[in-house]
Amino acid sequence: MTDASNGMVVTGAARGIGRAIAELYAERGWRVLSADLSLPPNLRGQRRVKADVSTAAGRERIVRAAREMGGVQVLVNNAAFQGAHGSVLDVSERGWARTLNVNLTAPLLLTRALVDLLPRGAAVVNVASVQGLFAEQGNAAYNASKGGLVNLTRAMALDLAPHGLRVNAVAPGAISTEAVLQSITESDDPEQTRRDYEDLHALRRLGTPREVAQVVYFLGSEDAAFMTGTIIPVDGGMTASFMMAGRPV
Ligand code: NAD
Repeated sequence: MTDASNGMVVTGAARGIGRAIAELYAERGWRVLSADLSLPPNLRGQRRVKADVSTAAGRERIVRAAREMGGVQVLVNNAAFQGAHGSVLDVSERGWARTLNVNLTAPLLLTRALVDLLPRGAAVVNVASVQGLFAEQGNAAYNASKGGLVNLTRAMALDLAPHGLRVNAVAPGAISTEAVLQSITESDDPEQTRRDYEDLHALRRLGTPREVAQVVYFLGSEDAAFMTGTIIPVDGGMTASFMMAGRPV
């Protein structure tokens, strides 16, 4: 089986990590179907679909486009809503519901909707977060959604193994996406905020979208043929530490 014969679907591919994943697969000769709320960029060899993964209509649009593309060897559930900040005491019900719908329920329902197009040997990769492994103060909905996605990944691995499918997840640390860079530049002290982000990681820098895409690619490939139900941190050592990236307290 050569890479050139393969097709893949990635959600949330208009920018950031999803876009880097689409670009990497396209570069390696895959047929890529990118889905997002707004039409993803037109990369060579790519199909694009405008779809909200949290709606049945959006998922159906993705399934139709995937069927037209031919087989799907890899599905990457990457789209996420990161906008509902708030603690367990004040996160809005609306923000909570949107976060859980997009980040947790949509990966379940999209995978289920596409399962008939995934041949034995195909793989699903979920994009979770270090915030699915540990919590951040004041970010209850996102923490719960990514923690749910981590264990959903394990449940999917068990339930889809009889279908010959593997399911794994990556848990990125802070990655230099448009969203993260914007929050740095819009902060009161951008230089200090950048250093604070960097210092969360033992490697003292942000990760790049490409560095996450490369691990996603590995998990989707036959090089990872004996891996399923695993959660791989791509976090520059953030979760290797008890706290403060290994600095003494
Ligand atoms: P981003 O916010 O820059 O991009 C997410 C994309 O998903 C956007 O293009 C958005 O339009 C799309 N999207 C949102 N809701 C959607 C929906 N309902 N249907 C279809 N598309 C939708 O995000 P990013 O920073 O590139 O993150 C990508 C993934 O990586 C997310 O799952 C995020 O939780 C995870 N992650 C990111 C970081 C980071 O530092 N950037 C760290 C850990 C995990």
